[in-house]
Amino acid sequence: MPKSVGIDLGTTNSAIAIKKIQVEIIPNKENERITPSCVALRQKKKLLGLSGKTECIVGKHALEWLKQDPANTVTAVKRLMGRSFDNPEVQKLVSDPRQVVTIRRQTRGTENSLVLVLNDKEYTPEAISSEILKKLCADAGASLKDTVEFAVITVPAYFNDKQKHATRTAAALAGIKVQRLLPEPTAAAISFGVDQVNDADVNTVLVFDFGGGTFDLSVLTISGGQFLEQGKGGNMWLGGEDIDRQLMDHVLEITARENDIEDIHALIDQQPDQVKNQFLGELKGLVEQAKIRLSQEQEAYIEILGLLKDDDGDLLDVDVTLTRDRFDTLVQPVVNTAMDLTRRLLTDIHIPTDLIDRVLLVGGSSHIPCIIAAVQDMFGAEKVLVHDRPMLAIAEGAAILSHRLSESYECAGCGKSVSQTETTCPHCGFDLEKHTIEQGVLDIVHSTAHDYYVVLENGEKYLFIEKNTPLPCEQTEVFKLIQEDQQLVHMKFFNRVNEIEESIGDLWLGIDFETLNKCWDNLADADESAVLSIGVTLKIDENNLVSVDASLREFPDVHLSRTLSRGRADETLFRKVETMINEANEKKLSFYTTQDMTTLIVSTIQDIHQVIDPDSGQVVEPVHQLAEMNIEKTRRFSENDITCYSTINFAQSALDHFGMLLSSTDQALIQKKIDHLKQMNLTGSYEENLSAYEDLDRCIEGFTDIVILMQIKKARDYCDQHDPDRAGTFKDDIANLMDAIIKQDIKLKTTLLEEIFPRVDKTLDEFDYGTGTIHKGITR
Ligand code: ADP
Ligand code: MG
Repeated sequence: MPKSVGIDLGTTNSAIAIKKIQVEIIPNKENERITPSCVALRQKKKLLGLSGKTECIVGKHALEWLKQDPANTVTAVKRLMGRSFDNPEVQKLVSDPRQVVTIRRQTRGTENSLVLVLNDKEYTPEAISSEILKKLCADAGASLKDTVEFAVITVPAYFNDKQKHATRTAAALAGIKVQRLLPEPTAAAISFGVDQVNDADVNTVLVFDFGGGTFDLSVLTISGGQFLEQGKGGNMWLGGEDIDRQLMDHVLEITARENDIEDIHALIDQQPDQVKNQFLGELKGLVEQAKIRLSQEQEAYIEILGLLKDDDGDLLDVDVTLTRDRFDTLVQPVVNTAMDLTRRLLTDIHIPTDLIDRVLLVGGSSHIPCIIAAVQDMFGAEKVLVHDRPMLAIAEGAAILSHRLSESYECAGCGKSVSQTETTCPHCGFDLEKHTIEQGVLDIVHSTAHDYYVVLENGEKYLFIEKNTPLPCEQTEVFKLIQEDQQLVHMKFFNRVNEIEESIGDLWLGIDFETLNKCWDNLADADESAVLSIGVTLKIDENNLVSVDASLREFPDVHLSRTLSRGRADETLFRKVETMINEANEKKLSFYTTQDMTTLIVSTIQDIHQVIDPDSGQVVEPVHQLAEMNIEKTRRFSENDITCYSTINFAQSALDHFGMLLSSTDQALIQKKIDHLKQMNLTGSYEENLSAYEDLDRCIEGFTDIVILMQIKKARDYCDQHDPDRAGTFKDDIANLMDAIIKQDIKLKTTLLEEIFPRVDKTLDEFDYGTGTIHKGITR
């Protein structure tokens, strides 16, 4: 039977566990319970001129490889998951001299997606993460003698939707079905055994997770097996590695002092690359070992002999003894920072320390005695629980939930398979229901990690769903469009994370002219100036995945559902449309040009919605190219004031109203050119489209009488709209002129025109539409 497991996909280390009767950590192939989250791409030597293959190694062996080939070995990929290249945290990494692996923008992706470059090939963080998951599951499968199919995977409580989505993608790439993405602190609380933190009363628990690269704090209230997240804090860049770095600096400083070296960093830099990498790698490994030893012992030694040479070519040995006291002094700044962050979180969420019932310490760095002491100092020793296996706690908690979520699982009484729906074991009569409740994970209530907003036309942010709302949740709001003939709707959704606005995705709707007319028909009060309204439902599921559903109130057929935060090719296209509209509005283009742009954009939006195949999630290449071409076309047309749709309308209206003045051959010719231009608007290249436009334009201009009549009609239409009393005269003018044309009375025609045209020109000037704006906003 395929197995369900719990996985802690950590920044530094990962672990995988299964709950049978007890929770067990499943050792990897190297027979270790912890797998370093390290992935190396090793280029195999080229043999006999054949091109070398790359081999992917994960875990301990990859970590060893780091010393030889740091440029192709990735650590802490979790920091890059779901992040854009421009993200300040990513930029911080890119500019860090210790970051040896190249991180850059993805060549083909949204302008903001990033990749790691290993052996000249691009890999997404998801792909790298999936290699870690693959190893964990393959090794576990071998140990369990079965395939691992389902998993609860833990993620930091602060992960936003994009980061979670990236994690889900990594799992999919590894062929794992995710039962749930579980916040790490909740997993930690579960692993502590709810008996310790679950009474009849509500318990408020602080989870203090001090790992290798990150420090995560969470406050949960737990009652009757329900976990409610109250607040989170910490620092993404604080952890055991900072301590290692301080120890390295300390060891080098002592070595320099003892050997009278002025600048030991410069000396290390001068070493041949291989020696330098080996030395730094060994030093890092040794200080970490010393740190770990000091969690139990009073003294540790760091010794590296026969590797470094000084300027004179003499060997320079490292030989430093570190005492617990010295260590405690050295790490004091890190401890202080951690305790400051703890205090700050409690202040932020208005929970004084004495209202915290339990503090749960997990993460590898929670082994460190002076850290435990500092936490005990703040909360009182009796409240502080240090996990027996702090680095395994989260995987264990995930395994318990995974077990609970499995459709069938092994009975805790006899170990035989029982179905999720059974309340007592059919094999041994064990009370399964009672057991589940005792385990306390009957129902886990997650809550939103952030506030969710939508931006209104005036720049105001409308709060859609508040932080800490229990999940899943759903909220519907009605917004108004801002202009009565508005054909575009653009909604921008945001998260607010630590005071910083983070886009979670946009939703675009295009309303074609025909639909717009139907909407007006549906408007109850038939008030011409009434604007349309749009119902928007924002849904967030247990995994914080956000989807939006929008439909026009007056015409529910205009409807769209979309999952946000995908960061895919369609987003890039939408962004281009947005930029184009902003630029057009700044340039104050003529009304007709903006009308034409709007029509083109409405149809392009329909295409962009088809760019990603909803089933496979893949880019549909022909549609992508078409949409891209049409955006570019729209931009160039607007720059050159070319109005294809207005020309079509003009020609069609000329045929409808004055076609009888033309031969049937001429009518058919114009109709053919109209149809051709329509087709080119949808699928033609810029050149093809332009040529179809010029062709129709030239053709119509050739029928002078028709053009003149259309001018008078336009004046009549303007009057109809703005000053109906004046429309009648133009109507008579048209009838008289048509009469003269049919009778081929040139003299009468000339006299009429001389009289009519000054009035026509004046009217057209008077009511000219002037410049236009493309509206796409919403308001309340
Ligand atoms: P992460 O959650 O970032 O993957 P872990 O919880 O696995 O990290 O913690 C790894 C960190 O814990 C490393 O920096 C490691 O050096 C440190 N660590 C592990 N064991 C001990 C110990 N006994 N004493 C002090 N630090 C330890
Ligand atoms: Mg961790």
